[in-house]
Amino acid sequence: MADSPATPQIPARPARRALLTRVESVEQLTPNMIRIVVGGEQLAGFPVGAFTDHYVKLLLPPAGAPYSAPFDQEQLKATLPREQWPRTRTYTVRAWDAENTRLTLDFVVHGDEGLAGPWAAAAQVGDALQLLGPGGAYAPDPQADWHLFVGDASVIPAISASLARIPAGVPVHVLLQVDGPEEEQPLESDGELHLHWLHDPTHDAALLANALRELELPSGRVHAFVHGEAESVRLVRKQLVVERGIPRDALSASGYWKLTRSDEDWRAEKADWKRQVEADEVTAG
Ligand SMILES: Cc1cc2nc3c(=O)[nH]c(=O)nc-3n(C[C@H](O)[C@H](O)[C@H](O)COP(=O)(O)OP(=O)(O)OC[C@H]3O[C@@H](n4cnc5c(N)ncnc54)[C@H](O)[C@@H]3O)c2cc1C
Repeated sequence: MADSPATPQIPARPARRALLTRVESVEQLTPNMIRIVVGGEQLAGFPVGAFTDHYVKLLLPPAGAPYSAPFDQEQLKATLPREQWPRTRTYTVRAWDAENTRLTLDFVVHGDEGLAGPWAAAAQVGDALQLLGPGGAYAPDPQADWHLFVGDASVIPAISASLARIPAGVPVHVLLQVDGPEEEQPLESDGELHLHWLHDPTHDAALLANALRELELPSGRVHAFVHGEAESVRLVRKQLVVERGIPRDALSASGYWKLTRSDEDWRAEKADWKRQVEADEVTAG
C-alpha cells in the first residue's frame, strides 16, 4: 500500500543516535516557506543519496520545556516526565552537500501552532538543531513511461528532489496545492514537465483529486508519488488505484500531516487511516 516504490528498494531507517547540527543560513523562499541550511561535523558521512524522499527527524523541546538544544535526550528521558521529552518532527532532505556537511531543509510555516513551523520562523544562524536520520523509501523508477507527483507545500522539497532524477524527455505531471500564487516555487526537470499549481488557502481535501480527474494523462507505465495532507492523499490514491486502475506497487502514498491534528495526534490515528485506505479499495469492489 503506502510507500511502495515500483522498483523494490530497502527503506532506510533513521539512525537512533541524535546528531547535533547548527543553523548556517535562513532564507525566506516564499511568504510561507523557509529554507534552513544546517551543518556540523556530526553530519560527516551522512548516508543520503539512494532516495529522493530522504527525511530526517528533528528533536524539538515542547512548549515550556525546562531545557533547550543541545540536550542529552537519554538523560532527559531518565529525569523528566514524558510530556516534557523532546518531540519529533519529520522533514525532507531538500539537498545534501557532502563536501561541506550541509543539509538543506524547507519548512512550511503554517501559523503559530505546532513546534517545527514556529521553530523555523524564529531560527537564527548558530541555533542548535538535533536530528535523527536519514530515512527514505522512494526514488523515481528509471524504467517508468511517465511520472506523476501530487502534493501540497510540504511535499515541494521531495518533489523538487525527485524532478532532478527524471530522465530527459520522460513526461512528468506535477499537481501542487498551495495557498496562492505567491507560494509557487520554480521547479525544474530534464523530463517533459507538466506543472499544475492549484491555489487554496483552506486546504480543501478534494481539490487535488478533482483537478487530477480532469487531466488527460499519458498512457503506459506510471510511477506515482502522492504525499501531503492525509485526507487529500486518501482521495487522490483512491482515484488512482480504484478509478484509474494504477497498480498499488506503482504508487508511493502517505499522509505527511493531517489538518487540525498535531503530528503526535496524527501518528496516533495513522493505523486507522491506513485501514480506511484499504477499505476504499474493497468498498469500490
Ligand atoms: C516523510 C515526511 C516528510 C516531510 N517533509 C516535510 C518538509 O520537507 N517540509 C514541511 O514543511 N513539512 C514536511 N513534512 C510535514 C511535517 O512533518 C508536518 O507538517 C508537521 O506536522 C509539522 O509540525 P509542526 O510542529 O509545525 O506542527 P504540528 O504540531 O504537527 O501541528 C500543529 C497544527 O498545524 C497544522 N499543520 C501541520 N503541518 C501543516 C502544514 N504543512 N500546513 C498547514 N497546517 C499544518 C496541523 O494540522 C495542526 O493543526 C513531512 C512529513 C513527513 C512524514
